[in-house]
Amino acid sequence: MSRKLKGIAAARGVAIAPIVHFHATLDHIPTWKVSEDAIEAERARLSGAIAGVTASLLELQRELAGSLGKHDVRIYDAQLAILHDETFRRDVEAEIAQYRVNLEVALQRVIARYEAVFAAMENPAMRERAADLRDIGRQLVGTLLANARQKYTANGADYLFAAEEFLPSDAGILDRAHIRGIVTAHGGKYGHGAILARSLGIPAVVGIEQIMLESSTGTTVVVDGDAGLVILDPTPTELADYERRGREQRAIDRRIAEVRFQPAVTPDGVHVQLLANVEGVRDLDALEVDVISGIGLFRTEFAFMERRQFPTENEQVAMYRRAMEGAKGKPVTFRTLDVGGDKPLGYFRMPEERNPVLGWRGIRLCLDWPDILYTQMRAILRASALGHARILLPMISTRSEVVRCREVLDQLSADLKATGVPFDPQIELGVMVEVPVLVPVLPDVLSVADFVSVGTNDLVQYLLAVDRDNQRVAKMYDPFHPGVLRVLQQIAGMANAAGKSVSICGEIAGDHWFTPILVGLGYRELSMAPVFLPRVKLMLRSFTVAECQDLAARAVAMQSTSAVRKLVQDEIQVRWARQLGAPEETRR
Ligand code: PEP
Ligand code: MG
Repeated sequence: MSRKLKGIAAARGVAIAPIVHFHATLDHIPTWKVSEDAIEAERARLSGAIAGVTASLLELQRELAGSLGKHDVRIYDAQLAILHDETFRRDVEAEIAQYRVNLEVALQRVIARYEAVFAAMENPAMRERAADLRDIGRQLVGTLLANARQKYTANGADYLFAAEEFLPSDAGILDRAHIRGIVTAHGGKYGHGAILARSLGIPAVVGIEQIMLESSTGTTVVVDGDAGLVILDPTPTELADYERRGREQRAIDRRIAEVRFQPAVTPDGVHVQLLANVEGVRDLDALEVDVISGIGLFRTEFAFMERRQFPTENEQVAMYRRAMEGAKGKPVTFRTLDVGGDKPLGYFRMPEERNPVLGWRGIRLCLDWPDILYTQMRAILRASALGHARILLPMISTRSEVVRCREVLDQLSADLKATGVPFDPQIELGVMVEVPVLVPVLPDVLSVADFVSVGTNDLVQYLLAVDRDNQRVAKMYDPFHPGVLRVLQQIAGMANAAGKSVSICGEIAGDHWFTPILVGLGYRELSMAPVFLPRVKLMLRSFTVAECQDLAARAVAMQSTSAVRKLVQDEIQVRWARQLGAPEETRR
């Protein structure tokens, strides 16, 4: 019998393959009964896992020796001592032998017992040992799961990624040739995991809370990224049905993709710049620079997040130069480090925050740690000598933040000039509009900023007070809300009146259902993951500007989100069918 689990459709398309569990936690482990003659094999697995974790801890200790103090490096000594503690080993082995449970379960139980003992101690230093223990357990289970994963991911077969969440750093470890789909327990359609899945063109369903408990590595799964559905152990009929759907979808996609070489122009001749969102240097390899007007958003933090320590200035220069070269003279907008919120930086200690999304993130963090901002801006300035670079500041909420950043930029430019280092003295400094309060003060901000880019992912989350990463309120996160459209209208109006370039770089820029409305509201620059470009272009080529303006005016005047959706759907279905002779896929 197959089992169906409903989640949130995060990236379109259908995928069928065995699921592989990524990310080790002590909470989600495979469980099985161990027979008498398999006990020895479990012991051997324990030795193997201890050896594996020891090797990686020693490696990490060596790597960090330069950047951490002697005291901090000793934290790893404490972990190594636990790992090689004879009592710990004996207790785990006894758990296996006595209760016939597999090693993962034995580890989970023994560590929970130890943890309870440490947590009850009076001495705070001893209480902290509980965290070390848990970390050791997580690493051991991680090594064991990695070995199980190996079986599915090392032999060149297709697989589906499953984990609690899909993290930006995961994009670095995926085998792009064989990853077919993504399923996660948490997340929303506009969280960074979903954004990444879409930009990689991998079908994804997020927010299936039970996925790690209901499946195990090796289970065959269908991921239906259009309906937000996952089917575990599909029946032969379901399999055949989804295989057919997958083939049909790929055929339509091929036809849509042909549009990408045609100009991005409305039938009445108005050009709209379609730019690319880039998540890291790797994306540059696949970039078809001839079909874009430039890079509208380089999310630099993703490259920071994949590493184990801050990249040096020279390493950053190399990365930014690659982007400049990749763009072949077209503009490249580098967004300064936007960590915090749902984008933690492993090697930078951030405080636990009750509301991280309302907390220390983006420019707030960088202005408190100016070294980070100085190094990054200097690196971007140095790379700017190669062409047309722009600097974009995330999470701006006051004019004075922009003024402070401009002072930093001026100071760095003066230093570079004095030392004869080449850079572009005309480099533009722009702001992201994603904190709602920036909208009413935008004319003031525009007097110190050269351009604006609307980060609708965050702007919508803050306007609606709905966490973009929380599956429980995902239904309420809807950028078609007429209030959102009215705010977008105001932003475009103010920027156009001030003669400043305005673009949208949030996910709606790449959602072809939004294309005519955005053009109608006055936007002429849309920055999106390149996979969306053909669909957006198709829509652009289907509506005159007058039709877009009429549609936008009607949408803005609507009184409900569902009425806006219905209006857009009615308009789009007709043109889609006319262009492709195929029905538009049903939307949520
Ligand atoms: C946004 O908020 O719309 C945006 C583009 O930035 P990010 O998604 O990285 O927060
Ligand atoms: Mg944002």
